[in-house]
Amino acid sequence: MENTVESLRLRAKMDSPDQRGGVSMPKRIVKRIKPWADTIAVSMNVSMTLFFYFFDVFYVMPQFLGIFGQAVHFVVSTWIAYNILGNLRACTRTLNSVDTLPPEVLKPAEGEESLWHYCDPCQRTVPPRSWHCKTCSTCILKRDHHCNFVGNCVGHNNQRYFMWFSFYAMIGSALALYDNLLYAHKHGFEFVNLFTMHYLLFVEYLHPGTFDLLWEILIRFILTMNVFAIVFPGVLFISQLVVVRNNSVMYKTADCTYDLGIWNNFGQVLGRRRFWTCLSPDIKSPLSHNGTQWESKGTV
Ligand SMILES: [Zn+2]
Ligand SMILES: [Zn+2]
Repeated sequence: MENTVESLRLRAKMDSPDQRGGVSMPKRIVKRIKPWADTIAVSMNVSMTLFFYFFDVFYVMPQFLGIFGQAVHFVVSTWIAYNILGNLRACTRTLNSVDTLPPEVLKPAEGEESLWHYCDPCQRTVPPRSWHCKTCSTCILKRDHHCNFVGNCVGHNNQRYFMWFSFYAMIGSALALYDNLLYAHKHGFEFVNLFTMHYLLFVEYLHPGTFDLLWEILIRFILTMNVFAIVFPGVLFISQLVVVRNNSVMYKTADCTYDLGIWNNFGQVLGRRRFWTCLSPDIKSPLSHNGTQWESKGTV
């Protein structure tokens, strides 16, 4: 009897996805997509930015504004799009890996040995606040998080670009939503109609040809993407403000161990020129150190 129960247990175990030598369907899909996730997300970012820019500047707003208004709208939109794409590019291309440091700084200064820790995958000791990223396969200096939307780890050297990228993506999408709502309203579509897709399809099913279905779906799609394009970067930007304010990282937002005061905390991320960096990703603003030595609240 006991043997039967045991054999049933064993069989159930063998039938589980893990024991069959595989993983469940959703996990398998995630595993397949993962190597492409960065490329897909960055391409989506670039395409959406370019789409909203060209659609609103050259198609939508000429229907509402005179020459002067269009010129102002063009300048403002171009400046925002330049900051979105420029900060995205800089964020993607700036390396944060511990490997980028010269060998002479890759050892703790005298008296700081206890602050460094050993990383198993890298098989070396790494500076304080550096953590291993499985996606990048390396230790990242002051690792905040790995972001698919910029295709890179956000850390010591590129957090400035990430912060302004999320800010301008939120602002640019808000401007695009305003433009797109004007356009939608002009063509008899109200914002509340975004939530009536089921009604639309039901009526169309009962009485085909009642609506211009392609137009209705297209405008809903554009506005829905537009709303997501505000909410996602908006949440990221606000979380970055909190993280930088506390001089913490995304996984320990409330940790104030390295809090040196608002002015110094923002200086550590934005560099010597601090908030002037919001004007352009091309403004040079050197960071105060190389990411290996961190003052904590107790040491100042
Ligand atoms: Zn590592
Ligand atoms: Zn990473």
